[in-house]
Amino acid sequence: MKTFSVLNLPVHLSNNYEELIINRIDNGESTHVVTMNSEMAMMAQKNDELANAIKKADLVVPDGSGIIFYLWRRGQKQQRIAGIELASSVVEKLGKRGEDYPICFYGGAPGVTKKAAKAWLQKVPTINITYNHGYLSEAQLEAWCETIRQIQPKLILVGLGVPRQELWIMNHRHLAPNAVWIGVGGSFDIWGEVKERAPEFFCNNHLEWLYRLYQEPYRWKRMLALPHFFLKSIF
Ligand code: UDP
Repeated sequence: MKTFSVLNLPVHLSNNYEELIINRIDNGESTHVVTMNSEMAMMAQKNDELANAIKKADLVVPDGSGIIFYLWRRGQKQQRIAGIELASSVVEKLGKRGEDYPICFYGGAPGVTKKAAKAWLQKVPTINITYNHGYLSEAQLEAWCETIRQIQPKLILVGLGVPRQELWIMNHRHLAPNAVWIGVGGSFDIWGEVKERAPEFFCNNHLEWLYRLYQEPYRWKRMLALPHFFLKSIF
């Protein structure tokens, strides 16, 4: 697969990530998928553990306008893809295949993950989802790991935020060695309808960050990484 370096981190270039992921599921190939946006790339500059997890991942998908701009400045034409849309299309495909394609959702606040799973069940009645929220005690987490081991899901979505989810996947993917594991950030919040995705206008005009800042103003400090990333893209 074609790989390009973004601030010393690998990004895999493709025009069909969904197909890549489905093929790996069908082949039972252990896969850690990272959807990398500019905030994550900047965080990894200072966080060696996160950088290591990204380098070890099997598929790093460029997520968001910042990374696409960085690639474009270096002559790489790459279509923009949002991590949540990629995860959605894979969940939908597997869900339609029915119960032999178990999926796990892990992360999000108590109640929210359940709402997200229910929303999916309503949309795709044949889907087989087992879920747990992201605030488990040590004992609960141990039991959850055992559940994952028993289910051997084909797909595990982990929404614990960055970098927690990337590190968790790296350290736990042995539990289901034939599965695809994807870090999905706040996707359960969106499927569980506690947060909204930016309206199309914002997405189409590379302003998703602005909507996010409006919805979650407490993120402003973290988001200072964005203009910094932009400058690094240009030079
Ligand atoms: N979260 C969690 N456990 C934790 C901390 C966070 O499950 O200990 C969840 C939180 O409920 C939210 C997600 O992780 O659903 C973080 O979402 P965010 O959009 O902040 O992700 P990021 O921007 O860090 O990828």
